[in-house]
Amino acid sequence: MANDAVMEWVCKTLIPDEDFRTRGVADKKALWKKKELTVGFLQGSSKLQDRVLETARRWTNPDEGGALLKFIKAADPASADIRIAFDPAGGSWSYVGTDAVTSAKKGQPTMNLGWATETASDKSFASVVLHEFGHAIGLLHEHNHPMANLKWKKDVVYADLGGPPNDWSKKTVDFNVFESYPPNRVVMSPNVDLVSIMIYTIPSRWLDGQPGIMPSDHLSKGDIKFIRQLYT
Ligand SMILES: [Zn+2]
Repeated sequence: MANDAVMEWVCKTLIPDEDFRTRGVADKKALWKKKELTVGFLQGSSKLQDRVLETARRWTNPDEGGALLKFIKAADPASADIRIAFDPAGGSWSYVGTDAVTSAKKGQPTMNLGWATETASDKSFASVVLHEFGHAIGLLHEHNHPMANLKWKKDVVYADLGGPPNDWSKKTVDFNVFESYPPNRVVMSPNVDLVSIMIYTIPSRWLDGQPGIMPSDHLSKGDIKFIRQLYT
């Protein structure tokens, strides 16, 4: 089913204001200033929570050159920096970086991992958790990189994402899929990383004469290098 596939490769970032601000592959204003982030689970079994944390910590694995950050499980989930829900009907989404502090409602989720279940395969679990935690530490979608140069078949994308389970408006599609950050306003890696965990999986039918982009279930070398530059 095409729609089942769509569900696996799209997420919405929550940007609270519509105005463009300095952001890019990483949102400069949304980078955390502290080195230890508390992660609170508003739901989920301890087994599921541990699986999420263990997976998310691939971003901060010192042996692999990752971010100099620590994810600490919060004793009081409602006051954690990153607050996670597992609403199966809510899809997967996250606030970007410190928007979790400045824009999310107190005690409410800052991330939903609707597709990260105890029975999910390691690959699909990692794909969702790594991507959403990338947002949580300030990263944006790689396909919006100014140098991505993707030739969209917009009508096809509107049709695919406008239906269930996403039901996205054109405006939401424009924002999450087609936006390209102006190069003079962004913080970005020098080249677009087409194997980044932060890029959507893009079926070839969404593109005009370009190959599709396969799903990723691991951090690319570019992801690790870039996040280390941001959190060093
Ligand atoms: Zn995303």
